[in-house]
Amino acid sequence: MFRDSPIIRWRHYNDRYRLVGYRCTKCEKAYLDKKGMCTCGNLDFTEQEFSGVGKIVAYTQIHSGPEVFESKSPYCVAVIDLKEGARIEAQVVDCRYSDLKQGLEVEAVFRKFYTSGEKGVIHYGTKFVPKY
Ligand SMILES: [Zn+2]
Repeated sequence: MFRDSPIIRWRHYNDRYRLVGYRCTKCEKAYLDKKGMCTCGNLDFTEQEFSGVGKIVAYTQIHSGPEVFESKSPYCVAVIDLKEGARIEAQVVDCRYSDLKQGLEVEAVFRKFYTSGEKGVIHYGTKFVPKY
């Protein structure tokens, strides 16, 4: 009964909306997703909240993406190394594709992803903007 409760669901959404990952307690390597084992062999991790600041490693422009992002096409996506060491893939917004380059400093922002269902549920999440 409680499993389908909107209150329980919203608790999990809170985790998604924070830029939180994990850090190895031995070598201090940071990960966005929880790993069973670090590359150093350690099994213990602590929670790591990221600043949201990072640099673009690679980027591209999506012209034909998933249906939910169709109205946003074309849009920019980048692989970003966060300051704390973890790597994330995310949309980069509030810029043109020609503005992007390797090494460009970006920062996380909380933005609308898409709307779904008959009731128009709005999904939010982390995107990045160039840090000028
Ligand atoms: Zn480690």
